Amino acid sequence: MERIIEHVLTLPEEISTGSFEGKIAFMYSEQLTNWDMARNHYRHFESVERRVISAGDFSFIVQHNPARARSTCADLSAKTIETRKCFLCSHHLPQAQNGLIIKDKYLLLVNPFPIFDRHITISDFNHCPQRIDGRIIDMLEMAALLPQFTVFYNGPLCGASAPDHFHFQAAQKGIMPVDSEVSRIDSSRKRIFVGEKSDVQVYELIDYLRTAIVMESQWKEPIDYCFARLMENLPQNAEAGEPLMNLIASYTDGVYRLIVFPRKAQRPSCYYAVGDERIIVSPASVELGGIIVTPREEDFQRLTLDDLKKIFDEVSLKVSFKNFVW
Ligand SMILES: [Zn+2]
Repeated sequence: MERIIEHVLTLPEEISTGSFEGKIAFMYSEQLTNWDMARNHYRHFESVERRVISAGDFSFIVQHNPARARSTCADLSAKTIETRKCFLCSHHLPQAQNGLIIKDKYLLLVNPFPIFDRHITISDFNHCPQRIDGRIIDMLEMAALLPQFTVFYNGPLCGASAPDHFHFQAAQKGIMPVDSEVSRIDSSRKRIFVGEKSDVQVYELIDYLRTAIVMESQWKEPIDYCFARLMENLPQNAEAGEPLMNLIASYTDGVYRLIVFPRKAQRPSCYYAVGDERIIVSPASVELGGIIVTPREEDFQRLTLDDLKKIFDEVSLKVSFKNFVW
């Protein structure tokens, strides 16, 4: 705990008693002033190239972000993870990296390798595995504490670059296309499992290239319950210790929303291909949310909708809801 305190910002009184929005603005201002690496990376981020791939009534934003090669191409083998210094443990944080305590058990930090103008890492105080079991309520409460943000979770084999240290991430709400597409997509494209008359609505987005199951409620508990039912019915992955998945949560006008993206593979075949066939894309929540990060210029230039169809086909799990009881 002492080590955690060393990395907690001291806030002026008018900020410490206010909302997290104000605290995060203060944190960014302090960190981009005093932490050279973060300042340089956020400055470079301002000039990353982007382009849009349209898929009809939804779209993808391709982002050429060379600094993300570190995460996209991370070696996540058990041996590498075991022998490296965990970059989320407080005793390994750079001296200049300081953040905020949230929910008395997580440290909220500036992510020094941004995909968003405000890209936050929210790590558990303790070095404990990336497993979502027992954390959905935390995730939804965090979304409510950060209503300007979307909170996301990458499973240990689905994009988490620290599979051995529990963490969420957050990005400004509205940047990932999925944030607005979920409400905009026509109801004929939603397969409703649990209707509006109960205290939760659960539906699947149809023809969305990837499987996306959306849970919405004014309360956290029914979402936690439906998520647990879904987990019981998805294939367990022994290595991950849970079904493969990415999650995106938000809180808007009194309604909690959790989007579950069930997965069947960590990376698509094109990631491992050689020569011209190779495309370095390693899908995580951000990609499932509609932002495709390409560390290499050549991938940024040539990626097509057909490539994305193939990539999502290989990593997203098609779920049969026949005989499914919510
Ligand atoms: Zn750690």
